[in-house]
Amino acid sequence: MRTAVVVGGGMAGLATAGALSRSGWRVTVLERAERVAAPPTAVVLWPTGLRALQSLDPDGGWTAIASPLPDGGVRRPDGQWLVAPRARSGAGPSPAAAHLEDVYDALVAGLGDVEIRTGFEATTIRTGLRTRPTVSDGRTTIEADLLVGADGIDSRVRAAVAPEAVAVGSGFAAWQAVIPGFRVPRLDGGRCVGGETLGAGYRFVAIPLGDHAAGRGGVYWVATAAGAARPEAPATQLALLRRWFAGWHEPVGALLDATRPEDLVPQGVRELRPLPRAYGFPAGPGGVVLVGDAAHAMPHHLGQGACLAFEDVATLRSLVADVEPGPALTAAVESYSRLRRPRTTTVVRQNRRMSAVVQARGRLALRARDAALNHMRPRMLARSLDPPADWTAPE
Ligand SMILES: Cc1cc2nc3c(=O)[nH]c(=O)nc-3n(C[C@H](O)[C@H](O)[C@H](O)COP(=O)(O)OP(=O)(O)OC[C@H]3O[C@@H](n4cnc5c(N)ncnc54)[C@H](O)[C@@H]3O)c2cc1C
Repeated sequence: MRTAVVVGGGMAGLATAGALSRSGWRVTVLERAERVAAPPTAVVLWPTGLRALQSLDPDGGWTAIASPLPDGGVRRPDGQWLVAPRARSGAGPSPAAAHLEDVYDALVAGLGDVEIRTGFEATTIRTGLRTRPTVSDGRTTIEADLLVGADGIDSRVRAAVAPEAVAVGSGFAAWQAVIPGFRVPRLDGGRCVGGETLGAGYRFVAIPLGDHAAGRGGVYWVATAAGAARPEAPATQLALLRRWFAGWHEPVGALLDATRPEDLVPQGVRELRPLPRAYGFPAGPGGVVLVGDAAHAMPHHLGQGACLAFEDVATLRSLVADVEPGPALTAAVESYSRLRRPRTTTVVRQNRRMSAVVQARGRLALRARDAALNHMRPRMLARSLDPPADWTAPE
């Protein structure tokens, strides 16, 4: 039987494992944590990501767990519009937001016969042109026809096959939180509406997750500030956030007031520079592939990382579903890289432009930013929101 080992039990790894197992592969997931668990945050699923998920698992219930994302426009901290909300153009699925625990649950439910080994930290990866790739934690060594690196930005798998790609700081820190439904502040006629606000080096995005009928509900927010990750305890970081965002239009202050230190997920934002030269590396009768952040970690400004991971998996599945180990599988490994690298490189480039927008500080830079936004935003939105112009799931 064809065998695959997936290193990493995050969204990319779980999606890969389920997709390969449903295609008849025997799959083992190796996860270093003691259990597979979602961080208590949320994710925007852009139409491309939703399409990928639908194509991977049509029974996944994706629309049931995700709430349509209203276009709340972009405002300045004083509430003035930089980009007014506009109606979405184009057909196809709407962007939606979902609690990560709901996404993980759906991915786990689709795993089928996959074996999950938790507490297994992959430390040594060996590949050679004539031998099957192996992975070891120093005690146990496992070999497989296909080794999938889904182990995130600090990927050990990537370090073995593409050491040129290094994780570096992006110059930002981010804080995420989900406020459960019963604690959401009621504003604006009883509702708490979302949207995006850009200040000088600061950004705040609020996204309603719907009522309890759609997944876990509540409101998700993500704040970004130029600078490094903060070393303080969560309560101190929350106090800092309240100070930095003081005076911003509502619901920013109300959401920060409703947030508890234990809701807060702080992190330094990092990215890969350069990207790996390839995402697929033939070895023996198969090879090694990189998916998700292991392949193309980037700042979260466009909220695309998980969606790109699901596209990776849908592409990989379409290439390897029906092939046997041998020349056909090594060719599929190479094709995967050829198909995915250009697409992700384009999104990384768009992200860098958005980094400059978020980082703008000082009167002149802010004026230039506000003028540029009016041109850039519609194009960016169009790219993200109009699926026909974008990525489609391979057959
Ligand atoms: C603030 C913020 C907001 C975001 N918003 C969005 C959004 O709205 N939409 C979107 O699409 N994306 C978004 N993203 C990006 C998205 O979160 C990531 O792209 C996605 O989580 C990557 O998933 P992954 O499975 O590739 O990696 P990870 O989630 O990092 O998972 C890697 C897994 O591998 C395990 N692991 C690591 N090393 C080893 C090892 N050596 N051995 C065994 N196991 C190992 C880890 O424990 C982990 O479980 C956001 C990111 C941030 C920071």
